[in-house]
This record gives sequence, C-alpha cells and structure tokens, in this order.
Amino acid sequence: MLNTVYIGLGSNLDQPLQQVTQALEEINAITGTTLVSHSPWYKSTAVGPIQPDFINGVAKAHTSLDAHRFLTALQAIEQAHQRVRKEHWGPRTLDLDILLWNNDTIATERLTVPHAFMTERSFVLLPLNDIASELSLPNGTPLKALVQQCDQTGIEQI
Ligand code: ATP
Ligand code: MG
Ligand code: MG
Repeated sequence: MLNTVYIGLGSNLDQPLQQVTQALEEINAITGTTLVSHSPWYKSTAVGPIQPDFINGVAKAHTSLDAHRFLTALQAIEQAHQRVRKEHWGPRTLDLDILLWNNDTIATERLTVPHAFMTERSFVLLPLNDIASELSLPNGTPLKALVQQCDQTGIEQI
C-alpha cells in the first residue's frame, strides 16, 4: 500500500536553501518513495535560542515504507547533511519532520503524528496550505482554520 506523507523541511546553517533543495531529491531517492509535490520556500525568524533565520517548506511524498522506516530514512538524510544535535531547537543544517501520515494518528516513543507543534507553527502551516489547502487533520480540524489562527509575524515567502 502506498502511504501519503507530508514532510516539514527546515535549515538555518551552511547555505540553507541548498540544504533543503537537495533534501527534496534525497527524499525522492528513498526506497519505495516518490516525491509528489513541494511548497515554495519561506524564510522565518527562529524560535528558541538566537540564531540565523530559517528556510522552511513542506513536501508531499508517496511511500511504500511504514512510518518508522520512513522516519529512519529521513534521519539518515539529516545525518548525511552533517546535522549535529547540540541544544534543543538550536541551529541545524537540516530538519526533516513527519507532519502527517495518511489520516493516521501515531503515538510511539519515536514518532508523534500529527507532528506535535504543527498546529501552531506558521512555517509549517503556510507552506502546507500552499500544496494541500483542502486538508484536515485526523481530528477533523481544517488546515484553513489553523492558518487563520496562527501568528504570521517574522515569516515571508521567498
Ligand atoms: P520539533 O519536534 O520541535 O520540531 P526538532 O525537529 O528539532 O524539534 P529533532 O531533534 O529533529 O527535533 O527530533 C527529536 C526526536 O523527535 C527524534 O528523535 C524523533 O524520534 C522524534 N519525533 C517524534 N515525532 C516525530 C515526527 N513526527 N517527525 C520527526 N521526528 C519525530
Ligand atoms: Mg522540527
Ligand atoms: Mg526534527
């Protein structure tokens, strides 16, 4: 069975736009996985510690992998981009988060889907809305409603 997954991409180190653009190709190269579409890129001021602005976007893919194997593949891509985990929400070369997986709710030690903070992050909601404006979360909340509610200061499409 093919799963539909939405992935949040982010980078604020070492040529962020190049990091996320290359990551799209690498997602498309994951076993059993095809990139379907991706959003425009956004620039946003960072949350957490003081650090460079982020480039963010969202990609849609189809994959025959299960959710945990897919997460493992995304983490391998992050590692290949020399991601170093120092401080929580600190600067990074590449962050790849699973936002939505089919219409599923997943709660395991490794994986929370829908992504825990996606409902309040404009750098997720705006690009997701660009490619999937009719989407609703598994709990029924329309994406459009979340977009209207979210704080959109410090973010712009590039
Ligand atoms: P945030 O979750 O606030 O976006 P982050 O992306 O910086 O923070 P990471 O350091 O990338 O956090 O990931 C920490 C852990 O989150 C990972 O080891 C992973 O197992 C777990 N995780 C839970 N749910 C997800 C998900 N939906 N997508 C990606 N990782 C997840
Ligand atoms: Mg993240
Ligand atoms: Mg992450």
